Amino acid sequence: MTHIIDGKAFATHLREQLTTSVSTLVKQGITPGLAVVLVGDDPASQVYVRNKGKQTVAAGMQSFEHRLADTTSQSELLELIAKLNADPDVNGILVQLPLPEQIEESAVINAVDPAKDVDGFHLHNVGLLNTGSPGLVPCTPLGCIMLLRDHLGDLSGARAVVVGRSNIVGKPMASLLLKENCTVTIAHSRTRDLADECRNADILVAAVGRPEMITGDWVKPGATVIDVGINRIEGDNGKSRLVGDVEFETASKVAGAITPVPGGVGPMTIACLLRNTVEATCRQNGIDPGTILPD
Ligand code: NDP
Repeated sequence: MTHIIDGKAFATHLREQLTTSVSTLVKQGITPGLAVVLVGDDPASQVYVRNKGKQTVAAGMQSFEHRLADTTSQSELLELIAKLNADPDVNGILVQLPLPEQIEESAVINAVDPAKDVDGFHLHNVGLLNTGSPGLVPCTPLGCIMLLRDHLGDLSGARAVVVGRSNIVGKPMASLLLKENCTVTIAHSRTRDLADECRNADILVAAVGRPEMITGDWVKPGATVIDVGINRIEGDNGKSRLVGDVEFETASKVAGAITPVPGGVGPMTIACLLRNTVEATCRQNGIDPGTILPD
């Protein structure tokens, strides 16, 4: 029987554990603070930012929300980031992407103090990840690795295929799998026989942004499938619904385990953001995160 990996339950448990970690810090007079910056009024980003704020407070941390107009200039945004970098109450900074076109994303990402870069996108943290050193790791791939470790235990030696090579999901996912001693292939839009590459995977991670592109006949029997995709499509009844990059109906008949959409990787992203905020807070206060964070 195919195992359905319940990311929602895992994330709920992780958030409970983090609430305990936060109360340990609060007892020492340290309340972790997360600043989230939203530029513009993209509806999906507004929902994400609201949820991040709610879950931050629910875990016992401080949430600082900065909502800026979509006409904000790059220098105005950089000025705010400089203030947040200098603010001792702010331990983590997240700038919600995408940004309006007048703002260069990389300039903003690399303006965040790497010690407060809870998204793990700063070049410093990218370098740490790629040299196998401890640092802040992008939330979505971190959530995927946690689900994989929980389900499979040791990942050593497994053949992993990551479809997608974005800086926020595909590449860091591949680095984390390599760190876990997997043999990793990164596939993308120029990959020659994508289906064939996928069929070799013991662990198949889909981060493409194409609804239900990966079908059951691309999945190796018994493989573990992690579907990062979140795509809104028109349902039969005219209402929209969310689907992943994997066709769940066919893939779940072949896979050994699979994450559903919704309820798989999605809930892990915010839980890992809270985890990264606690980790950043510990390091900024000279506390070994390993003594505070859940395993
Ligand atoms: P990007 O658009 O940045 O990257 C998509 C990647 O998929 C690219 O590397 C692209 O290749 C590759 N790709 C596109 N089409 C094909 C194809 N036909 N065959 C093979 N590869 C292809 O997306 P993101 O990485 O930001 O996001 C991927 C998905 O994950 C999206 O559905 C997004 O909504 C979701 N997501 C979910 C999150 C969560 O919390 N669960 C968080 C972040 C993202 P190339 O580089 O060659 O163009």
